[in-house]
Amino acid sequence: MPTEIEIVPCLSDNYAYLVKSGEACAVVDPSEAAPVRAALKAKGWKLTHILNTHHHPDHCGGNLELKKEFGAIVVGPGKDAARIPGIDVGVTEESGWEFDGRKVQVLEVPAHTRGAITFVIDGNAFTGDTLFSIGCGRLFEGDAATMWKSLSKLMTLPDDTQVYCGHEYTQSNGRFALTLEPHNRALQKRMEQVTALRAAGKPTIPVDMATEKATNPFLRPDQPEIRKSLGMEDADTVAAFHEIRERKNNF
Ligand code: ZN
Ligand code: FE
Repeated sequence: MPTEIEIVPCLSDNYAYLVKSGEACAVVDPSEAAPVRAALKAKGWKLTHILNTHHHPDHCGGNLELKKEFGAIVVGPGKDAARIPGIDVGVTEESGWEFDGRKVQVLEVPAHTRGAITFVIDGNAFTGDTLFSIGCGRLFEGDAATMWKSLSKLMTLPDDTQVYCGHEYTQSNGRFALTLEPHNRALQKRMEQVTALRAAGKPTIPVDMATEKATNPFLRPDQPEIRKSLGMEDADTVAAFHEIRERKNNF
């Protein structure tokens, strides 16, 4: 049976996600308990697990309250367990995880934080603040080389992987991307879709990995148009990636 996923908007621009499989139901990155509780009630689902991609409060602020209320098991990065509130199970790339009898792939993707992980459940990648649609997270605990390696790892996922990220940043990410690649047809098309979705008050998530590879400048540091915009035709990949990150910080 395929998993069922429910998007739960939290705080100002965060997303938590309910992932239902059989009798099991996990919430990914609950920044706060109330909207998660309301979504569970509306669906008639009972929370069994809490998954965290990284330790930031806007991703695990609801852990303790939800754990207490539902007796849910908290699963997070094993290498950053000390910073995950209420953690019961620390997972690594080697350990992976199992959810309702299905294998869950865990990818260690440091740089936004040193312990950041991505869960891949049934073809759905929960990327937290590492990969955003048309963007990537800030480099709080890793350098450009580390983030590039992490994003490269995510790019090995199949093209039809559905990406569920931690924030609704897509529209402003896309505006920035267009400054680097104004002639990218796939990006123009994605932005038309994003503008329509946002105007209708809808999430721009999920997005498939193929679309991200075709539109996200952080996954495309070697594209000629981007290199030309950067004035870095001859630089190495990590240097170009670093410059894209710097420019986005100041956008
Ligand atoms: Zn974060
Ligand atoms: Fe965040």
